[in-house]
Amino acid sequence: MAFPRTSGFVPIGKIGVSAYTIPTSSPESDGTLEWDKTTMVVVQAAGGGETGIGYTYAADAVATLITGKLAKIVEQRDAMSPAGAWQAMVHAIRNLGRPGICSMAIAAVDSALWDLKARLLGLPLVTLLGQVREAIPIYGSGGFTSYSDKQLAEQFRCWVEKNGARKVKMKIGRDAARDPERVRAARKAIGDGVELYVDANGAYERKQALQMAWRLREDFGVAWFEEPVSSDDLEGLRLIRDQGPAGMAIAAGEYGYDLVYFRRMLEAGAVDVLQADATRCAGITGFLKVAAVCEAFGLRLSAHTAPSLHAHPMCALGCARDIEYFHDHVRIERMLFEGALEARKGELRPDWSRPGIGIELKRADAARFAA
Ligand SMILES: [Mg+2]
Repeated sequence: MAFPRTSGFVPIGKIGVSAYTIPTSSPESDGTLEWDKTTMVVVQAAGGGETGIGYTYAADAVATLITGKLAKIVEQRDAMSPAGAWQAMVHAIRNLGRPGICSMAIAAVDSALWDLKARLLGLPLVTLLGQVREAIPIYGSGGFTSYSDKQLAEQFRCWVEKNGARKVKMKIGRDAARDPERVRAARKAIGDGVELYVDANGAYERKQALQMAWRLREDFGVAWFEEPVSSDDLEGLRLIRDQGPAGMAIAAGEYGYDLVYFRRMLEAGAVDVLQADATRCAGITGFLKVAAVCEAFGLRLSAHTAPSLHAHPMCALGCARDIEYFHDHVRIERMLFEGALEARKGELRPDWSRPGIGIELKRADAARFAA
């Protein structure tokens, strides 16, 4: 046997990959990007008579990388050791570059392998990881800059009334002059009892962001300002964090792919809340490592998007704060997965009656979106 054997060795079988491109419900934009579709890459990992499922939101190129490179690295390794497969994948992509597409490809495979292991043991993933809470708060996330104020208000009211959301997030930064008006409309729609978050996706200059922070806090009680400046401008984030209003958390981290990125961001004192995305930072294995770094800096972790996937690790982490219940991904996961989680009473609760992540691909429904 070429690979290290462990107790209860189960060889990983075929790694299957598919990609689906789903049009958005309407044209969408934030402070720095516009889009009209989303691609999901799904991995299915066979082994021991079970099939694990994992996914990432990326580009078709991720599927090519998995088929052409990662599948043969992982197949025949031990399904009981996702960490072993993870190490081998990280080693194998050295010359291709760790951040970006490689980390998203590893993420989809790694998540499928964790799902497979949990299924082989007949456990929900959260139980395998070691559960510390039954449910994790969500914040409803959308409020795109392409929305009219009426659309924005309707979306926010739906999350508050239907899903019991106690926090909602909107995009700003497309038109700085209009932002206060839009935030006013959002606050009016949700009333005073719901926390309001904003995300500029790095659209503002430093001083402009600082001015906006004070205005949005004082006039509308905004409690979270995500990427007020580019998340690569760690000094700028630190400036807003230190000189902005108390009661407003500065958040960033969604573009983090490896531990060094997160360590640098935290060492710079750039954020009050660290964000991370398991579908980007190399899967469940990578995400747990990021959480450990976050905890070492005494901060809370917020999961970026992919709610069905994040519910499990977030309920197994002491430093977990909340999950982004992102409009596009909630919709896609509901369309493509049986067992996708729905927020109730402002929380996501892993389904203990289902093994693994608890989702199954709706093959027939997915087929028409095949990329
Ligand atoms: Mg964001």
